[in-house]
Amino acid sequence: RDTDDVLVLDNVSSGYGDMLALRDFSLRVAPGQIVTVLGANGAGKSTLCGTLMGTVGTRTGRITAFGRDITHLPVHERARLGIAYCQEGRRVFGDLTVAENLRLGAPLSLPRDEVGTRMERVHTVFPVLAERAGQRAGTMSGGQQQMLAVGRALMADPSVLICDEISLGLAPVAIDALYQALAEINAQGVAILLVEQNVKRALGICDHAVVLSRGRVSYRGGPEGLLDDADLDAAYFGAA
Ligand code: ATP
Repeated sequence: RDTDDVLVLDNVSSGYGDMLALRDFSLRVAPGQIVTVLGANGAGKSTLCGTLMGTVGTRTGRITAFGRDITHLPVHERARLGIAYCQEGRRVFGDLTVAENLRLGAPLSLPRDEVGTRMERVHTVFPVLAERAGQRAGTMSGGQQQMLAVGRALMADPSVLICDEISLGLAPVAIDALYQALAEINAQGVAILLVEQNVKRALGICDHAVVLSRGRVSYRGGPEGLLDDADLDAAYFGAA
């Protein structure tokens, strides 16, 4: 039943000008799930994120969040419904401190003590952000900046967190730490939509996987169906 689902995309097509980068795309994220969307460069993963957040317009199809039709809802209203987005490339404010960056993830109208409570919750998941609260974000390592980007998204107290390529360009130990944190966040009841190029990592944590190939779904099912290299190749390139 739709109302039980966190996010549902029904035959969604979206894109830029005449070009549809996402075609007839359907996906369901149930409460508590981690769903991953995989695909090569240019497959349409970032377009999917933009479509979910409202920065890329939906041409046909329907998107619902928590049972509510959000297909044509503006960006800020989607955020208010509990959808948070950690976009590709971290985009932290390098000249601001870690604490200031986190503050920017909470609604401006939020009472100060509630901001504090949320920040403490983020610090529990990412202790390094407490240790470095007063440090300028730009001086931290890539992995720490990525933690900050996820932490900032958590400051909105989301029900679902959309992460676009959070392991991009990071060392294996940094990726370990991030994925450990994602598992913790999920255990606290936040559903996660994980958009990744890092196949092995994403499959290791998800309940359900979708592979995008040129804007269309080429695989849908449990992660076990993609563990074999041949299956993965077929999903990435075979359907073309
Ligand atoms: P990457 O991993 O490189 O970010 P991706 O899977 O996220 O790839 P998208 O960025 O969604 O893929 O791109 C899907 C298609 O849409 C590509 O053909 C791309 O060239 C095109 N595209 C993406 N953004 C725009 C834009 N702003 N205007 C026009 N075309 C775009």
